[in-house]
Amino acid sequence: MLYNLHTHSFYCGHGTGRISDYADEAQEKGFDVLGFSEHCPFPDDLFGKTRMAYSSMPSYEADVRAEKRPFPVLLGYEIDYLKTMHGYFADLLGRVNYLIAGVHFVERPDGDWATPFSTGFDDGDVSRYIDRAIDAMQSGLISFLAHPDVFLCKRPFDSLARTAARELSAASLEYSVPLEINGNGILKGKGGYPHPLFWEEVRRNTDIAVLSTDAHNPAHLHKTIGDIRKFASELDFTVLEPAIDDCRLTLRRETES
Ligand SMILES: [Zn+2]
Ligand SMILES: [Zn+2]
Repeated sequence: MLYNLHTHSFYCGHGTGRISDYADEAQEKGFDVLGFSEHCPFPDDLFGKTRMAYSSMPSYEADVRAEKRPFPVLLGYEIDYLKTMHGYFADLLGRVNYLIAGVHFVERPDGDWATPFSTGFDDGDVSRYIDRAIDAMQSGLISFLAHPDVFLCKRPFDSLARTAARELSAASLEYSVPLEINGNGILKGKGGYPHPLFWEEVRRNTDIAVLSTDAHNPAHLHKTIGDIRKFASELDFTVLEPAIDDCRLTLRRETES
């Protein structure tokens, strides 16, 4: 089954391509399911430069809903889950097909926000990252956790990273929220993620994973699918597949469908 549930667009400000361009690409490549998960804004446009504008949400949602294709096109968001905003995200889930979460920022004790991409995370940030990711899985709102190993962008795989892999995969089991093997890190060519040692550690706890390309360009929608499938199969993961029950995304083992 060919699918991608982690897809961006021009709406987030750091991606390119309209919603219809991604749907065209999916149709050309023979996708079975395409899901859009644009970076969800906050009402005060927190993290504004890297998120869709709050005022663009109706337009984004209308564009996705307007896509009528031979395969299901799902409407979702990638959220930066914060416990203080639980109600906001719960309301959002009420009107879309699914949410996923990625932890792109952690708040330091001095109030600054650290990111794994530009400056990188220190050890304290990694601990905060683990807590934030577990909060998201525990929320009951998300279908999967995006790029759980993104914190490794500027860091070596050390004992703390091993701890992260153990804790995140344990939480994944406890809350039934699968982890995602993400192709965008391969494309960026920076190493970091998906990280083989991280996923080896995850594999001790669970044998299931979701695959996404995290495309920010229509040409990237399909580009790394072969790479992430190979990555998953080399570590003997079973890849989950999407199903839609009553407008709600669910993920199943291939054999159950
Ligand atoms: Zn992005
Ligand atoms: Zn993303």
